Amino acid sequence: MSLTEIQTRIDKAALTAGRDPGDVTLIAVSKMQPDALVRDVLDSGHRVFGENRVQEAARKWPAFREDFDDIALHIIGPLQSNKVRQAMELAQAIHSVDRVKLAQTLARLADELGSCPDLFIQVNTGEEPQKAGVLPSEADFFVSEVRKLGLPLKGLMCIPPVDEAPSLHFALLAKIAARNELSGLSMGMSGDFEQAVALGATHVRVGSAIFGARD
Ligand SMILES: *Cc1c(COP(=O)(O)O)cnc(C)c1O
Repeated sequence: MSLTEIQTRIDKAALTAGRDPGDVTLIAVSKMQPDALVRDVLDSGHRVFGENRVQEAARKWPAFREDFDDIALHIIGPLQSNKVRQAMELAQAIHSVDRVKLAQTLARLADELGSCPDLFIQVNTGEEPQKAGVLPSEADFFVSEVRKLGLPLKGLMCIPPVDEAPSLHFALLAKIAARNELSGLSMGMSGDFEQAVALGATHVRVGSAIFGARD
């Protein structure tokens, strides 16, 4: 699918749900994709991208930024404590805040750097042991901890289990966000972004549907 086609489908899903298409940001997930394909998408005018590894982002994006203005980079993968500074210097948003120690490190570095990317808390809506994110039952407490640190918390993020209906997880994430008065909802990937938009996604993270399968 082309980027235009995906954007059209997002706009349609938003309008069908009675939402403003302008309230949904398409994050083109460029992890593990050839630079030439990423450059094509940049050439087409798109500027919002997602990477799940800080190291890969640091290798790729400074060069793209020399050629293209106003790139917004979103870190969407698990964040190790020793990569936080680099992530903050590279990215405009981090979607994987999931533990108090990480939030404390973000707060300390935000103080030092004088700025902080927009933050999303990852919620493990499927309560999968192998998956990152705070449990749904811990989410309210964690939101208040992140707020106490004065961090720019924008919303919540989830990755539904592969073998379950994603809409149940999107609805749960939306419910937790609403009761915590958070407007940002990072949810929906190549296979389910329209469902996510229908349930309130403000950020959809779409990789393979734009770039093709990753190696
Ligand atoms: C890779 C990835 C995506 C994109 O997945 P696709 O199925 O290729 O659209 C979205 N979110 C996260 C956190 C990812 O790691």
